[in-house]
Amino acid sequence: MDYRNAFDMTGAVAVVTGGSRGIGFEAAVALGQCGAKVVIASRDQSSLDAAVRRLAESGVEATYTVLDVTDSSAVNKAADAIVAQHGQADVLVNSAGIARLNSALETSDDEWRAVVDINLNGLFWCCRAFGRHMVARGKGSIVNIGSMSGLIINRPQTAASYMASKGAVHMLTKALATEWAKSGVRVNALAPGYVATDMTLKMRERPELFNTWLDMTPMGRIGEPAEAAAAVVYLASGASTYVTGTILSVDGGYTAW
Ligand code: NAD
Repeated sequence: MDYRNAFDMTGAVAVVTGGSRGIGFEAAVALGQCGAKVVIASRDQSSLDAAVRRLAESGVEATYTVLDVTDSSAVNKAADAIVAQHGQADVLVNSAGIARLNSALETSDDEWRAVVDINLNGLFWCCRAFGRHMVARGKGSIVNIGSMSGLIINRPQTAASYMASKGAVHMLTKALATEWAKSGVRVNALAPGYVATDMTLKMRERPELFNTWLDMTPMGRIGEPAEAAAAVVYLASGASTYVTGTILSVDGGYTAW
């Protein structure tokens, strides 16, 4: 292996759902700075527009597609259109996700369905749509953004829908990895701890939560989106050619305690 080039993504086409902000946006920056052509996808056109401009400021060539990952036929069309336009899809990063903090007894049907529909169903529609092209081509790497919440139960907040969805994402990752291992398509998941994105930072308004999170993290701090994005590049790139079906924790040691 040429180690310096192993992380080089030049010539690769990388699609990032939830790429307009947070971990997805930073993954787009990282993959783009390593040479990939990036396509970001999320629901809101104006946020995507702004994100593509910010990516250009970071030296990253990016385009976008407006996509609600819960709409499986729209996901299929987007995958076909991206492959038709760029000739291939080498990398798929599934970062679109939501969290709802509620007790199980107060979780409504709609809230449960919304979380599972985006975090699990939408992620599967994307894996299936892009995976079809990757398997046909015999090449591809999918990185699902799971969570430490798929490995342990967070506290003090309660969020059964979120934790169940992330546990399922990890098992789906392993299932697809084994199905596609001999087709040249790798499927891995990242399990971040608390990362400084809108999803997490808004919880600073609730110090009883936020301070517990810091206290329960051996490093005593939350992670930066870039610290998750660098691990996405590793899993997406030629540096991890023998890695599939793994759940890579990037959590400041949270799950070690
Ligand atoms: P974020 O809220 O900053 O970004 C989420 C992105 O998903 C946004 O671009 C949003 O537009 C998009 N999105 C939501 N619903 C969508 C849909 N139906 N279709 C398409 N796009 C949709 O969140 P984040 O903190 O960057 O989280 C990204 C992923 O990382 C999520 O899967 C989340 O569960 C996971 N994660 C986050 C943390 C954390 O602490 N921030 C920790 C562990 C895992």
